[in-house]
Amino acid sequence: MGGGSGLWWVGRVLVLVQLVTGILGWGKEGHYAVCKIAEEYLTEDAVAAVKELLPDSAEGDLAAVCSWPDEIRFHYRWSSALHYIDTPDFKCNYQYCRDCHDSAGLKDRCVTGAILNYTNQLTSVYQNSNSVFQYNLTEALMFLAHFIGDVHQPLHVGFTGDLGGNTIMVHWYRRKTNLHHIWDDMIIDSAVKTFYGSDLANMIQAIQNNITDDWSNQLPLWEYCQNNRTVCPDPYASESVSLACKFAYKNATPGSTLGDDYFLSRLPIVEKRLAQGGIRLAATLNRIFASQGKRAKA
Ligand SMILES: [Zn+2]
Repeated sequence: MGGGSGLWWVGRVLVLVQLVTGILGWGKEGHYAVCKIAEEYLTEDAVAAVKELLPDSAEGDLAAVCSWPDEIRFHYRWSSALHYIDTPDFKCNYQYCRDCHDSAGLKDRCVTGAILNYTNQLTSVYQNSNSVFQYNLTEALMFLAHFIGDVHQPLHVGFTGDLGGNTIMVHWYRRKTNLHHIWDDMIIDSAVKTFYGSDLANMIQAIQNNITDDWSNQLPLWEYCQNNRTVCPDPYASESVSLACKFAYKNATPGSTLGDDYFLSRLPIVEKRLAQGGIRLAATLNRIFASQGKRAKA
């Protein structure tokens, strides 16, 4: 099968699956926004390392490949459990040991486990010049960039019983859909159309303005990892499930119609999560690739 027809096939399946379930994580626009925001905060070392690892198709732009793990999840079947974490119904909290496993009970197969794994793959090579090159680091980078986005989508750390809102059917204005899809795509889509002249770039710019303005004093906190760790996905997952309970599930019972009230009160949450995802992705990549230069000079 030629590459063209393969892509066509993947495209058809994606369209179908998005129509049927919408289980893909932040939609294409959300992932693009997270990675675009991250690009602004990368150090010189990180920019150089990322450029070297990106596939040619990215044309030097990390954001161009941030949805890649969604595009290949039917081809890489093993990867589909890595986009989310299911937590116990109505507990509104997250614990790595309790929750990070796939539906067959296999440990570490969840979004926080995947973030740790791909960070370890990258650091094992970039921080240890003697290590044998045993991983596909291009894929590791694309997975990591995508999953740091996903863990910030509140319903990617939702309840087990409703599959993170996928089985909660509601109306988004007049359109029938599920709650998970509203958080992946619809809030962003509606915001882009309503407030940003149908141009995602304007929404990203507005989020960036908030980062340098209202949120600037919070950045050190967002970037901080306890005990000098390279990456720390657990607090991001805890924040997500807490936001899922306070905002995503709230007033979104099956059959309800979500309109202006829900949209306008949840949009600030979505924008802040995209910002945090971007800042933390940049901070993580900066830490992964920082030691490379230091080691080379040492
Ligand atoms: Zn995803």
